[in-house]
Amino acid sequence: MGIQLSEPARHGPLSEKLPTVATLCSHSSLQIFHGARLEGFPTLGISRGPPPRFYDAFPLGRPDKFLPVPEVREIAQHADELNRENAVLVPHGSFVEYLGPEAFQRLPVPVFGNRAVIGWESDREKERVWLESAGVLMPERFTDPSQVDGPVIVKYYGAKGGKGFFLAKNRDGLKDFRPTGPHVIQEYVLGTRYYVHFFYSPISETGYRVAHGSLELLGMDRRDEANIDELYKLGAQEELLKAGIRPTFVVTGNVPVVLRESLLPQIFDVGARIVARSVDLFGGMVGPFCVEGIMTEDLVFKVFEISTRIVAGTNLFVSGSSYSDLVRPQLSMGRRIALELKAAREQGRLGEVIS
Ligand code: ATP
Repeated sequence: MGIQLSEPARHGPLSEKLPTVATLCSHSSLQIFHGARLEGFPTLGISRGPPPRFYDAFPLGRPDKFLPVPEVREIAQHADELNRENAVLVPHGSFVEYLGPEAFQRLPVPVFGNRAVIGWESDREKERVWLESAGVLMPERFTDPSQVDGPVIVKYYGAKGGKGFFLAKNRDGLKDFRPTGPHVIQEYVLGTRYYVHFFYSPISETGYRVAHGSLELLGMDRRDEANIDELYKLGAQEELLKAGIRPTFVVTGNVPVVLRESLLPQIFDVGARIVARSVDLFGGMVGPFCVEGIMTEDLVFKVFEISTRIVAGTNLFVSGSSYSDLVRPQLSMGRRIALELKAAREQGRLGEVIS
């Protein structure tokens, strides 16, 4: 038997009937509904305003029912309707972002995964404590520009899609930098970005063992980031600045990638450390998470961020990836979530995968 999640339950028990897999209609919801349907779960889409019309074009991803709400921030007021449906909410990036991390944590409806993780992930300081104390390598951080000895990236807290991030080639490049809010100065890691899609099951008893469960690697992507990905075609950043263009990292899409097989042990080690430490810190992360890092030319993986829920890059793999195909055919992250709910329910262990 595994451990119970550390947060006290904020909702009543699920009824005996099959839970309804529910999420906000956005981000990775089509994949979540599709995966839930494959595993026989009823599905419900919470839409801001009328149901999105383009869902009609995707009959296999469209939920069985919609719950339109005027504003995402008002979802808590619809908790009774969701609980009547025996709903389990699946968090995704937009769901947590639009509702706000604190409000999401307080929702009086069962949530897939351990909602305690949100407090650790949404605060960059706490996230660093978690990762560094797990022994994960991160980009160096400078508290003062005088310490800078190479290229740096200046990140503002809460910047959506890296809005306003500033790049400097060296200490001199920071001379004209005037911060406009709380920020960190971080080593700019030169290398190749990988966004690694993991799933941690606390109830699985086979596979790559971590803590009392197992860690699965289901896919990998790289994000297309607006104008920064095209920077090299236009020359150095100064040239861009002369033209009045600031580099941005606004995500516009995703491309699939695979890593050299010889680098997989390093990637699994990073994932395992993050999970093991989460068990000590807050009872453990459950389900999908994404490790976002840069592989340097020395083949060292430095992690600049983690997302502790399904990421939009998994939308590439609705019918499987080069990795998930080796776990089970046709295994999307959405379907993996549904399989976890199904297994936990069959084993009477739902309390270990929802909070
Ligand atoms: P989001 O929430 O959209 O993921 P964010 O505002 O949290 O973005 P980060 O994910 O930390 O910001 O960074 C955005 C982008 O900046 C990354 O995808 C990556 O391309 C680049 N980046 C971040 N940190 C570094 C670093 N230390 N070295 C090199 N590039 C970096």
